[in-house]
Amino acid sequence: MGKEQQARLQVVRRAPEFSAGTVLELLSKPTHADHIIELYEDDDFLVETVAHYLGTGLAGGESVVAIIAAERRAAVLARLAQNAIDVERARQSGQLTVLDAASTLAAITVDGMPDADRFKARLTPLIDACRQRTPKAGVRAYGDMVDLLWRQGQQQAAVRLEELWSELCAGRSFSLLCAYALGDFFRDPDSQQLKAICRAHTHLFDKTGSLKVDPGEGAVPELLLLKQKTLALETELQSRKRFEAALREALHQRRRVEAELRQSNRDLDQFASVASHDLKAPLLAIANLAQWLEEDLGDTLNAQSREQMRLLRDRAQRMETLIDAILNYSRVGRHQPLIEVVDVGQLMAEVIELLRPAGNVKITVDPMPTFETERVALYQVFQNLLSNAIKYTRRTDPQVTVRVVDEDDSYHFSVEDNGQGIAPKFHELIWHVFARVESTADVEGTGIGLSVVRKITEMHGGKVWVQSTVGSGSTFHVRWPKHSVRSSAAS
Ligand code: ADP
Repeated sequence: MGKEQQARLQVVRRAPEFSAGTVLELLSKPTHADHIIELYEDDDFLVETVAHYLGTGLAGGESVVAIIAAERRAAVLARLAQNAIDVERARQSGQLTVLDAASTLAAITVDGMPDADRFKARLTPLIDACRQRTPKAGVRAYGDMVDLLWRQGQQQAAVRLEELWSELCAGRSFSLLCAYALGDFFRDPDSQQLKAICRAHTHLFDKTGSLKVDPGEGAVPELLLLKQKTLALETELQSRKRFEAALREALHQRRRVEAELRQSNRDLDQFASVASHDLKAPLLAIANLAQWLEEDLGDTLNAQSREQMRLLRDRAQRMETLIDAILNYSRVGRHQPLIEVVDVGQLMAEVIELLRPAGNVKITVDPMPTFETERVALYQVFQNLLSNAIKYTRRTDPQVTVRVVDEDDSYHFSVEDNGQGIAPKFHELIWHVFARVESTADVEGTGIGLSVVRKITEMHGGKVWVQSTVGSGSTFHVRWPKHSVRSSAAS
């Protein structure tokens, strides 16, 4: 028979050994060198079995040591009482010693590891006293300390404590029961921890039955391994489900926020329209009244008053321009994007035609690409940049050069001028709404143009920046993705 075949046969034979019905028997009459491990899935089963183990010991006249975790202590003692054990009397007579698992653990631990000397100093006298007390009936102990360590993720410390218990068990004959939450092995797909723990015990049991454990490799029954793997898978499945639910929730949240954003954009749009209309109407009235006043007063107005009337109309005009600019900024990207084939060279010619630069301005445009994008948006970008390049020059020979570099997934456009330039401290500021450089205050402007350029470009997934030296000129850069990815936040 081949090795593989033999192994398969062993598995088949081992499975029925893990038989139901023997658990209570094992817990009622453990031999005095048994080191039993209980794998529990729920606390009720644990409390019941532990109470049975301790109770049958007490009823049989054995001395009993119970090192119990605080959270299950009351439940175990109550269960003992239900099983007709007089807990108080047993404790007063010294037959039952109940210790707190956490504080006992703290007393035997050094730097996170159970210490052999401390363990012996704390537990040997206790077990010995019990043995002297009931030499014939014997001693049994239950310990929650390994379970505490295991649940805290301190596997190494738990295994070390098991070794110390095993040594104590071997030297003095008493039986010991330890419990482990089977679910805590879930992160162990190879079952290595389960195997290590099983090897340190003589018997193991769970809800389905008990098994005498042979020391060595084959100690863990296949049924249990299967169960542990199923638990591991279930845990994995549950964490995936949780993750999926969180994802769904996040998606839901996002849709809700998007809907809110759309609504608030609509409100804002409406507000901007109404506000601009309401502001523009009285402005127009002021400008008209100023003009009528000027006409009616005719020659009676002196030169200073006439100048003040002109300033009044001029300021009203300026305010109207500002209102239009704000409206323009707030409306960037509000319409559904219309993607079309754009001949950028042709677009540039149209922009220059619109701006009508003075005859001394020399504009050079490199050969431009043709590609699919949102024409209106690109038009607005170049209109603002070219108009600034022409505006902010104090030279008699203004020169503007428009270039493009193909950068695989985007076009890198640049608009260079030989104008007055911008000091470095303003390089970031000028992209903000209403931001203007003081030295250009005498030039007509609203401080909105560049913020529109940035808003449009970023909405298309692009980037803008400026390089400039005061006195020698500026270059405005626009990286514009070839495939438009305009965010629809504003629609
Ligand atoms: P506006 O031109 O209406 O003032 P912009 O937002 O277009 O508003 O520009 C903001 C400020 O940036 C301008 O007021 C000006 O001070 C500065 N600026 C923009 N372009 C240039 C340029 N090409 N050269 C020098 N300064 C510029």
